Amino acid sequence: VINVVTTADVRAAVGAARSAGRRIGFVPTMGYLHEGHLALFDRAREHTDFLVASIFVNPLQFGPSEDLARYPRDLDRDSRLAEERSVDILFIPAAAEMYPDADARIRITPGAMGDVMCGAFRPGHFSGVLTVVGKLFNIVAPDVAVFGQKDYQQAALIRRMVHDLDFPVRIDVAPTVREADGLALSSRNTYLDESARRQAASIYSGLQAARTAFGAGERGPAQLCDIVRTRLDTQPDIRVQYIELVDSGTLQPPVIANVGNVLAVAAFVGATRLIDNVIL
Ligand code: AMP
Repeated sequence: VINVVTTADVRAAVGAARSAGRRIGFVPTMGYLHEGHLALFDRAREHTDFLVASIFVNPLQFGPSEDLARYPRDLDRDSRLAEERSVDILFIPAAAEMYPDADARIRITPGAMGDVMCGAFRPGHFSGVLTVVGKLFNIVAPDVAVFGQKDYQQAALIRRMVHDLDFPVRIDVAPTVREADGLALSSRNTYLDESARRQAASIYSGLQAARTAFGAGERGPAQLCDIVRTRLDTQPDIRVQYIELVDSGTLQPPVIANVGNVLAVAAFVGATRLIDNVIL
């Protein structure tokens, strides 16, 4: 892996690879890499033969009371893991590299799909995400970019952005990688103490219980959401932010639950906000 910190160096490296006939894969991350990220690297490698990953904790997508300053970071370890999973270029820009102009004001805004689910509780978050991902797509110019299903709304918005704004990139969404007890891997899991960690597993077991009920014929969106809520309400340190059933493309609530709908949860486990989802 070659670590690079400037957009000019990324463009030069990718340009050389492309001239040599290589297809470019790209996986953007915020670092503190775990097996979920590494699975995205492997997935990108299936379709491409030159892999760029980025690590950038994007200030634009954090709210004023969120965890930007204490977001976990370990660049040495990340760099080692990227090396082991044969990442070719690891792009680690400083904030000043991505946002050199203090008065930069253009943003990509998500519209109605950014106002539901996480967007309802994190104003400006998805505008920050789309703006940085749009910039990264323009810097890296990948053929294929891979995102995780765990951040379902993010992946849906990026698909929509690429479609609506004609970005010449194929978006691939990879399944969520989980711990043995079902908890979705997340860099933020490092915030959990032992008791919170144990309780956090009920997010996925609740989602699974609802999916089982759907399989047995339950079609009421509210009933399915209540199955998850009941599970989470028994955990003393979990506070549900939302449980929603949505259409996989539009993110709007269906009248009746259908195959392919997404059942999504955001919950605070102690002070740590976690998200997860399953597809019915
Ligand atoms: P992050 O570093 O959390 O911004 O995540 C970077 C990318 O990794 C995003 O596309 C996430 O959806 C994806 N990702 C995060 N956690 C997981 C996971 N447990 N399984 C699969 N992909 C994940």
